[in-house]
Amino acid sequence: MPTPLLAATNNRHKLDELRAILAPYGFAVLAPADLGLKLEVEEDGATFAANAVKKAQAFAAAAGLPAFADDSGLEVTALGGDPGVRSARYAGEPTDDRANLAKLLCEMQGVADRRARFVCVIALAVPGSGDTPGTAEGEVRGRIIGAPRGSGGFGYDPVFVPDGFAETFAELPAETKNRLSHRANALRAALAAGLFARLAGSADGTGENVG
Ligand code: IMP
Repeated sequence: MPTPLLAATNNRHKLDELRAILAPYGFAVLAPADLGLKLEVEEDGATFAANAVKKAQAFAAAAGLPAFADDSGLEVTALGGDPGVRSARYAGEPTDDRANLAKLLCEMQGVADRRARFVCVIALAVPGSGDTPGTAEGEVRGRIIGAPRGSGGFGYDPVFVPDGFAETFAELPAETKNRLSHRANALRAALAAGLFARLAGSADGTGENVG
């Protein structure tokens, strides 16, 4: 029987990816909406880890269930690591993926160094435990192209080409992105570190059903 686990996110795209990545490991990922939970957490931390911990704790406390959060973003070498933790709000608020993309392409016009990486930190909070949530990080390296390509994914996917590929994340099949993404790598790191092992009836983290 799959272990229920609340995803501390209102981002539909993240949720779909987290569900797909965790499915083979024996977790049933619940969305806040599945519990009738409406919660917005201000992401004012200075690091991905601080924001992930804050979101996981807030959702776990509100739901009374173990909750894991994903805080993620894009770091571009030539921009000194921007947009970084401000990836979702790069072009201002309210958050707007298209405006963020347009701003990034503008900043990158004429820039020769196209290197970038996506980063994701996963935090797991267990309500009532008093423990500081454990965290794990993953990344995927690639480069920023000059104009958007593809219709899959979300956020900066149409301009990010992962190393070893010619297509953007928005052009690659979801299964491919979910195998090599920062989110997949962070979840694999979390499982390998035993972050989820304390959850009742949880899988052992080997993902032995993964094909
Ligand atoms: P946050 O984790 O809620 O702060 O938002 C992360 C932001 O980083 C998203 O709104 C996107 O702009 C960007 N981002 C994170 N992961 C991805 C991804 O897998 N593809 C494209 N953009 C992403």
